[in-house]
Amino acid sequence: MKIKEILLVLEEMAPLAYAEDFDNVGLLVGDQNAEASGVLVCHDALENVIDEAITKKCNLVVCFHPILFSGLKKITGKNYVERAIIKAIKNDICIYAVHTALDNHQNGVNKIFCDALGLKNTKVLLPKQNFIRKLVTYTIPENVEKVRNALFDAGAGNIGNYEDCSFNSKGIGTYMGNENSNPQLGERFEFVETAEIKIEVTFEKYLESKILKALFSNHAYEEVAYEIYELQNNHQNIGLGMIGEFDTPMDEKEFLTAVKEKMQAEGIRYSTFTGKQIKKVAVLGGSGSYAIKNAIMAGADAFLTADLKYHQFYEAENQLLLADIGHFESERYTKNYIVDYLRKKILNFAIILSEENTNPVKYL
Ligand SMILES: [Zn+2]
Repeated sequence: MKIKEILLVLEEMAPLAYAEDFDNVGLLVGDQNAEASGVLVCHDALENVIDEAITKKCNLVVCFHPILFSGLKKITGKNYVERAIIKAIKNDICIYAVHTALDNHQNGVNKIFCDALGLKNTKVLLPKQNFIRKLVTYTIPENVEKVRNALFDAGAGNIGNYEDCSFNSKGIGTYMGNENSNPQLGERFEFVETAEIKIEVTFEKYLESKILKALFSNHAYEEVAYEIYELQNNHQNIGLGMIGEFDTPMDEKEFLTAVKEKMQAEGIRYSTFTGKQIKKVAVLGGSGSYAIKNAIMAGADAFLTADLKYHQFYEAENQLLLADIGHFESERYTKNYIVDYLRKKILNFAIILSEENTNPVKYL
């Protein structure tokens, strides 16, 4: 199997188009056309992880955090990033980063976080904006099913828990072809008036070229009439953070104790107790201080995230319990999820969970 075949599975798990604009995801180092020898999945592709990959004969390292984040102008090995990159290149090891592509996925980092805590009825906390487009096209009734199915197969028509969603309305289409035309109905220079169906479907914008290809190769007409609209709707299934509920509410102390145990957190910093029972909980794995207000607005009783500064604890405003459980800890089960996903999709192949602890933060 080639490295690039494994990358396709990773893209299926977390489309790179889901990543935030500031991010640096995908294949960061190496040749995707190389034959794959094994996959090592880790949180951070540090030098010790590259060593582990060499020992375990894995030439693809899948990391959650991109080891290469900002541009490098010199690669001399003067810091931990450059040393890891040099070692990977010298040993023909590819590095692939997932990061916000998986953060934004409905089954990704925050769903894994919610599942670890036992939260139910989960919803995306910050639904992604400017991500949905709408295609409108027109065809003869005999061609509707073919066009619609091709659009669905290309990924159009998914709304929440429903697929194959479309709206179809009857109408009259008109046209007249010039001397170069070859009309499906009627002749050149003949004014044609015919029954047509207008098909409307929505799609995630990164699928546009695939969807247009499906439209053009399945539409009955020589010249396909279509329109694409940019929608203002948020995408309910893609976005950062998640909110869910416990079956049984608990008090704040009990809640924090359970979080500490389930997330294997060594220390939790938290805001003043509100005195409320904890039922609804918002989570955002990694640095999530920007979402405190969203968690309050969503009616969360508690918000779990990481990298909070002193003043940000005041932003809880006694409306929820705000807790910093540690950056690594809040994302700790992500690598296990990636391993499980790859093992399910790629059978009889070495997919290994890294044994290196890459958390740079220690607790006394
Ligand atoms: Zn992170």
